[in-house]
Amino acid sequence: MEMDKLVSLCKRRGFLFQSSEIYGGIQGFWDYGPLGVELKRNIKEAWWRDMVSGHDELTQQQGTPSTYEMTGLDCTIIMHANVWKSSGHYDLFHDFMVDCRQTKKRYRHDQVRGRWVKAKEQRVFIATVAETALEDEDTQRRALKFFNLRAKHAEQLQWDTGYLNLTEVEDLTQVLGPDAKEVGTLTEPREFNLMFKTFVGALSGEEGTAFLRPETAQGIFVNFKNVLDSTRVRIPFGIAQIGKSFRNEITPRNFTFRSREFEQMEIEFFCHPDNSQKWYQYWRDRRMKWYTDLGLSDQRLILREHDEDELSHYSTGTADIEYQFPFLPEGEYGELEGIAHRGDFDLRSHMEGKLDPNTNPLEVELNEHGKPKYRGSGKDLTYRDDLSGERYTPHVIEPSAGADRATLAFLCEAYTEDEQPDENGKMQKRVVMKLHPRIAPIKAAVFPLVKKDGMPEIAKKIYADLKPFFNVFYDEKGAVGRRYRRQDEAGTPYCITVDGQSMEDGTITIRDRDSLEQIRIATDDVVDEIRKRIIT
Ligand code: ATP
Repeated sequence: MEMDKLVSLCKRRGFLFQSSEIYGGIQGFWDYGPLGVELKRNIKEAWWRDMVSGHDELTQQQGTPSTYEMTGLDCTIIMHANVWKSSGHYDLFHDFMVDCRQTKKRYRHDQVRGRWVKAKEQRVFIATVAETALEDEDTQRRALKFFNLRAKHAEQLQWDTGYLNLTEVEDLTQVLGPDAKEVGTLTEPREFNLMFKTFVGALSGEEGTAFLRPETAQGIFVNFKNVLDSTRVRIPFGIAQIGKSFRNEITPRNFTFRSREFEQMEIEFFCHPDNSQKWYQYWRDRRMKWYTDLGLSDQRLILREHDEDELSHYSTGTADIEYQFPFLPEGEYGELEGIAHRGDFDLRSHMEGKLDPNTNPLEVELNEHGKPKYRGSGKDLTYRDDLSGERYTPHVIEPSAGADRATLAFLCEAYTEDEQPDENGKMQKRVVMKLHPRIAPIKAAVFPLVKKDGMPEIAKKIYADLKPFFNVFYDEKGAVGRRYRRQDEAGTPYCITVDGQSMEDGTITIRDRDSLEQIRIATDDVVDEIRKRIIT
């Protein structure tokens, strides 16, 4: 599937719009349109229902050491600045970036890659931004242009390496930046903190400085004690949260995949250290299954365990669920969700504070004796098992998913083109969004075949019967074939049509979006039939 087609369908049919489009847009920000908002809400609701409110706390799940409880939170986006000091984000949440002096563009150092090429006795590194499928063509085109060669002289280009990461190139003076026309315009890499800064209240100095959260997880950790004290949850249990996060990404791109404002669906699962490996395995498998249950093909999905050298120092295991997005080069996958075994790192950091004077000396506040002034919250975030009397700092398993990346993956998976006969038997190209009925924005569309003979009245009654339970749509305008096709593009799984026969015997047809099968049922059975098909 070509990504352009999906992007244009999303705009045309109201799934996604560029934010502030009438002012020329703002990079890295996206608005969900009338269909998109329903789709994303359905995805978030499916997640909440499957992980939290619908979780069976009494039955032991396969692959777990015991039963477990789940509960939720909804925390603020702006939190006390010390939260980010303890979590490490203040000192460590940065990327290295390089600027292009010529184009004024900025790139993430580790996302730029390229190839060395020689021609006309000059050796140049043609840099490009990774995560785009067209890079081979693009690299060749730029190399030809740089050396002022015609396409038919492409054999004069001597490619002496495959793709390398810019981080492996020591001398930037030989690099042709991704959008530059001359070599040597990229600056040396510099640190860039990804948190958005803002000011709280009337204070504009350091005291008023606050940050928009770069992840929802920290709100859960800082409320760990509140949840324990206000509910009767016992370990093992999980706390879930869905909400906006913000990262000042240096190079947002690939539609909504890398945005600056996005939504996360995160669980912090607290367990006894002795069982934590089992819980880690459980959550990896459980989360992977969630995506396939909702329609992502396991052909395009992988669960990738991080290598030892990719792991954070506190983690004994991290796995990413990755999807083969169509905008990525062949064989490459993009992260949908990370499942991390975080040990007791987070709770301990909020108790003791995370200070590393070597990381960034400017950030460390020292007291008059030269000792770190800042020492975490100082609160006791350990857990006492009231049955065994044991006190310990729980271990945490964190399945952290992106709602926007999941939405994008479901959209990519759903986009299908096929050919179907129209009313006159002529083959017609059709674009159909094969979204799982649970997440489809509109569950059913109701049509009178024609706008007369009492058909609209019956169709409107069916619409009214369904509306309290499902998002349904009524349409009486234009040829019925065109109405079907509009619903196919919107991903509506069922179309209900009132026709001449309905007037005689009180039946209607239900058309299935994917198989195109039409069945006839009694009008009175419509609500039950749709319910049966949607709630599988
Ligand atoms: P990446 O390596 O792609 O930047 P990450 O490893 O930093 O992602 P996490 O910090 O693990 O991501 O965040 C958890 C989830 O939040 C990701 O799996 C992804 O679904 C989502 N997410 C993170 N950054 C973004 C972003 N800029 N835009 C959209 N979703 C994001």
